[in-house]
Amino acid sequence: MTSIRDTIAAIATGPAPGAIGIVRLSGPDALRVAGTLFRGSRFDPRTAKSHRIYHGVIHDPRTGEALDEALLLLFRRPRSYTGEDVVEFSCHGGPYVLSSVLSATIAAGARHAEPGEFTYRAFLNGRMDLAQAEAVADLIQARSAGALRAALRQRDGCLSARIASLRTTLLGAHATLEASLEYDAEDDAPDTDAAAAALRSVMADIEALLRTVKLGRVLRSGYRIAIVGRPNVGKSTLLNALAGRDRAIVASTPGTTRDIVEETVSLGGLPVTLIDTAGLRRPRGEVEQVGIERALDATARADAVLVVFDAARRWTQADRRVFEAASDRCAAIVWNKSDLVPPSLVERLASRYPSPTRSTPVFLVSAVTGTGIPALEEALVHHISRDSDSPDVDVVVHERHAEALDLAKRALLSALDHLEAAEEPVLAADDVREAADALATVVGATTNEDIVREVFRRFCVGK
Ligand code: GDP
Repeated sequence: MTSIRDTIAAIATGPAPGAIGIVRLSGPDALRVAGTLFRGSRFDPRTAKSHRIYHGVIHDPRTGEALDEALLLLFRRPRSYTGEDVVEFSCHGGPYVLSSVLSATIAAGARHAEPGEFTYRAFLNGRMDLAQAEAVADLIQARSAGALRAALRQRDGCLSARIASLRTTLLGAHATLEASLEYDAEDDAPDTDAAAAALRSVMADIEALLRTVKLGRVLRSGYRIAIVGRPNVGKSTLLNALAGRDRAIVASTPGTTRDIVEETVSLGGLPVTLIDTAGLRRPRGEVEQVGIERALDATARADAVLVVFDAARRWTQADRRVFEAASDRCAAIVWNKSDLVPPSLVERLASRYPSPTRSTPVFLVSAVTGTGIPALEEALVHHISRDSDSPDVDVVVHERHAEALDLAKRALLSALDHLEAAEEPVLAADDVREAADALATVVGATTNEDIVREVFRRFCVGK
């Protein structure tokens, strides 16, 4: 990122037209820039009060032309998001209005902010640590209640506080181990047993956090469920029924869903990505071949699979092949189109599902009328929580954090080995230091600059 002495500006709201749009400024010159553009009866940049709203008109400093009637919101440093002087203009939310106001701030001496630069400044100014900054991006991207809850906890510093306390314990144990080098006499040597016990307790907590990694992955990327079945069994219709919206192409010609359609929905508070695959059967045209390859690929990368059969048609070898291809990850078997068959047949179908996975639940649904869909959803939620539930309140959502925790765990295992083998405590002390440093990277205390930049590069402009 370029100099932090610059004053930066960006449109902080989304690109679509909306009732309100915000242009945000941050930096030592924010008030001077604002004073150049904004005229309000009560606004004077020298005396304007922090955390106050001023009403006025924004002008283009090059032409003097009025651009918008707006509200100016002022946060003086250090009590602002970035820790610098921050000015936010609440304008009318049209893309042209907003880009004109942004361009006026640039003409008045600000420069365009880079992605994540506001939050990067907040990090540099100590307003939040790296884990909290990452949680800001998670909050914006959250697609389910569970993801939002985890992001809020992390933004509040719950994970950071926990990491800090583990680190303090490790640094204490490190000091004990280092000190024990200075003593010759056994009697008054520092207590390495106590140090080992402390290391074990830190290890247990790290392991508890690592057990949440799977749930974290689900919260971040969604639990992926591929819907497979022969052409025309109703996969697209089922996806729409589960997603509650008409997104996938529903057509009655076999093999028309040639591409993969994905839809993320919130089921039981968890983000679930439903993947509609092309029919798994012997292909005729090349396009279909590509579709089938993608379907197999999507199935391989899915966390679970829904196998769909057509209740109104005979069960065939092709159905069996689909089932066999997916059986190791099959979350449920769905007999679709129950509305087309008499209730007596529906009963018999239930007992006709393919063995050997008798534990796989079977559902009779109609994707068209919606019959049986709630029960199917409930079973999916049950399946997902069994697959990814974790008792811990903090969830490790980021791969970066998981890697750091894993590194710390390995270093601690090595330290404990040295201590148990009654070797030189200096070896254990080095490992403990390494574990403490690994933990510090989670909050950004010792994180390499390139990694920090990478974290902020994933943010949007204006955040
Ligand atoms: P896909 O090829 O497996 O994705 O199947 P589609 O979702 O495109 O559906 C194929 C045809 O079956 C369409 O004409 C749907 O309207 C119809 N269909 C899907 N589900 C049902 C259902 O539950 N009941 C009835 N009666 N028709 C259905």
